[in-house]
Amino acid sequence: HAKAEGKHNFQFYKEEMNTKAQERLLLENKLRHAVESGHFVLHYQPQVDLRTGELIGLEALIRWIDPIQGMISPLTFIPLAEETGMIGTIGDWVIRKACEENKRLQLQGFPEVKVAVNVSAYQFRHGDHLCDVIKSSLASTGLQAKHLSVELTESILIEDVEDTIAQLHSLKGLGITLAVDDFGTGYSSLSYLKRFPIDILKIDQSFIRDILDDVNDEAIVNAIIGMGRSLGLTVLAEGVETIAHRDYLLHQKCNFAQGYLYCKPKPADELLECWEAGSLLL
Ligand code: C2E
Ligand code: MG
Ligand code: MG
Ligand code: MG
Repeated sequence: HAKAEGKHNFQFYKEEMNTKAQERLLLENKLRHAVESGHFVLHYQPQVDLRTGELIGLEALIRWIDPIQGMISPLTFIPLAEETGMIGTIGDWVIRKACEENKRLQLQGFPEVKVAVNVSAYQFRHGDHLCDVIKSSLASTGLQAKHLSVELTESILIEDVEDTIAQLHSLKGLGITLAVDDFGTGYSSLSYLKRFPIDILKIDQSFIRDILDDVNDEAIVNAIIGMGRSLGLTVLAEGVETIAHRDYLLHQKCNFAQGYLYCKPKPADELLECWEAGSLLL
């Protein structure tokens, strides 16, 4: 009897696995179709100077617009795009589109700020391709290199330190800005950070959320700000949602902030409208 039940459980487990695998395959095919049909848009979230409230940058965040399902979050498809290599094509599109839209915004009277694009490990570990795509995107859109920034997560950077340093120097050589995204989640050591030619540390939003109630988060954030400043880096806090968050960070001398308190990610056209209406920032 026990044997039969075991077999039954195994059967059940196998069916569940098949459903999971089938769902994944379905999503993969759908994503492939979306890549071929160009069913993506970029939304942009303002980054501001905490002290002055001045707009200093826009982070480009991809959204998949499915004709039936509507907007699909990058959290559901970027991991799959990375596993399948589709992030190569998607990532090239993001860089090109972000340069194009930032240049267009500038021509339409929007402030001249940096646009920040997120780059995956797959793109970062592909030899000269990333530098080439950035170079040709800047050239064809006429966007200045100083108006482009690349965000790499801390976990990507610590994977292969020697290769990371070489690649970062090539990117810096283009004249663009380099930011470390989700900082504090990747267990990198101080000595690495010193060897990387980076400009900005973005404190992960998970540390900001409870900064006023959790002494551990508070300690981590204060340490990152202090360390960043002493290394001559600019420190940006992600996920700033309340005035209390802002005031705390300001008091700790954090440089920049980004979060729902200031603005949610929006399409370029909407951002321009907000700017023209004078309602973009607090
Ligand atoms: P990220 O680069 O760390 O981006 C910040 C995320 O936090 C964004 O989520 C943004 O909408 C969200 N956010 C901004 N302000 C707040 C806030 O005040 N509170 C909270 N709770 N969240 C806030 P989103 O747009 O869903 O993107 C999620 C992640 O997907 C990004 O994290 C990034 O890792 C990835 N991603 C987005 N676009 C791209 C892309 O073009 N290429 C790659 N490789 N990854 C991307
Ligand atoms: Mg980012
Ligand atoms: Mg982040
Ligand atoms: Mg993140």
